[in-house]
Amino acid sequence: APTLVLFTQDLRVRDHPALTAALDRTGTVVPVFVLDPAVAERSARNRVAHLADALASLRAGLRERGGDLVVRRGDTVEEVRALAGATGADTVHVTAGVSALAARRTRRLRAAGLSVRAFPGLTVVPPGEVTPASGDHYKVFTPYWRAWEAHTWREPLPAPDRVALPGGVRPGDLPGDAGRGRGRLADHLPEGGERAARERLRAWVEHGLADYPDRHDDLPGAATSHLSADLRLGCLSPLETALAAGSGPGSGEFVRQLAWRDFHHQVTAVFPDMNVRDYRPRDKEWRHDPDALAAWKEGRTGVPIVDAGMRQLLREGFMHNRARMITAAFLTRTLRVHWREGADHFFEHLLDGDVANNYGNWQWVAGTGNDTRPNRSFNPLRQARRFDPDGVYVRRYLTELADLPGARALTPWREEKAPEGYPPPIADPGH
Ligand code: FAD
Repeated sequence: APTLVLFTQDLRVRDHPALTAALDRTGTVVPVFVLDPAVAERSARNRVAHLADALASLRAGLRERGGDLVVRRGDTVEEVRALAGATGADTVHVTAGVSALAARRTRRLRAAGLSVRAFPGLTVVPPGEVTPASGDHYKVFTPYWRAWEAHTWREPLPAPDRVALPGGVRPGDLPGDAGRGRGRLADHLPEGGERAARERLRAWVEHGLADYPDRHDDLPGAATSHLSADLRLGCLSPLETALAAGSGPGSGEFVRQLAWRDFHHQVTAVFPDMNVRDYRPRDKEWRHDPDALAAWKEGRTGVPIVDAGMRQLLREGFMHNRARMITAAFLTRTLRVHWREGADHFFEHLLDGDVANNYGNWQWVAGTGNDTRPNRSFNPLRQARRFDPDGVYVRRYLTELADLPGARALTPWREEKAPEGYPPPIADPGH
């Protein structure tokens, strides 16, 4: 009987331990991805389009090796069960996930009588592989980072030469264009999928990495790797990404960011409710303010550095890390609106949105997560002056401010004649 390989956030053929082990075990495999309509309906069209690219690339990678990607629509467990019945498979290989959704899926598959085996591949170092002497996970990044760096990584696996599919399995259709999902499609979506992602990684290591330490916080420069969406769908192996960075200039700083990603995953693995509950409950008075929340989502708070970030999110399905921190802090610290409201909005739109990184970072900013200084003060204007001193980032996303030169674009409320179509600040913009 063949082994089923259930793809989720691991849409690649290279360095795929679950796939390789399935081929070693039974020779024939049924690689399957299940499109769950309920998930698509909660996703922005950008995200759905990006997933469609990644699936097309995975199918191409499997076909080059004589196999195929079997695509089904519906409830994942029901579809996997039906395929197992039709092919005689009794074992399902997955890449181990950390979310509550992943845990529930595994439980339900087991309850359906299938044997489920989970493999590494989601992170550089699997959650739980480095732990402090006194607990099951690290709560603070720096000690985690030290242990992570000292840890021996597994060897990455080559792509399999041949993927044999049992006869008689109908492959099923890929999702078409971005027909489903909510909202507007970005003007310039990067191409998704393993092939494009590997090219992006190569170009980044060659042209961007060395300047990363100096430029990662430069908002208008956008000089970060832009690999997060590729990592989120697993089109790139995180381990291969870390190894590709080598040991030259910039690699230490870049690999440290990959360790942040692993850090949030090892926290979420033991606290899978990260997207719904405070990791560290703190006495915070949240305000219910639907108007402020709507203004924040649409990028019309009247605080340019905040609005530019929010418009970048809607336009590109991406936001610079510094802008994520600024917009999230404005919502949770200045407006005092609950982090979940903002995090859910990010999750709906970000191509790289995933439970561990999105909600882990939101809670970090909101002071309910792993920040060791949960009450640090926040001043949007000071952030703007520091990270977008000439207003270039702000003008790129706020056409209403196109006529305000230099740093004047950061403080439109100080203009004698207010810029047309741009609101006054809804809260303290900083000083
Ligand atoms: P680079 O600076 O080139 O970093 C390289 C890689 O390291 C990234 O691709 C990412 O995988 C990882 N990384 C970098 N910073 C972090 C971090 N703080 N936490 C975890 N991983 C990190 N990242 C996501 O991947 N998904 C999210 O849903 C997400 N939501 C966020 C929400 C908020 C409020 C904040 C403050 C940050 C969030 N981040 C999230 C982290 C970070 O902003 C993005 O990973 C980064 O901006 C992606 O751009 P890049 O690939 O060019 O990053």
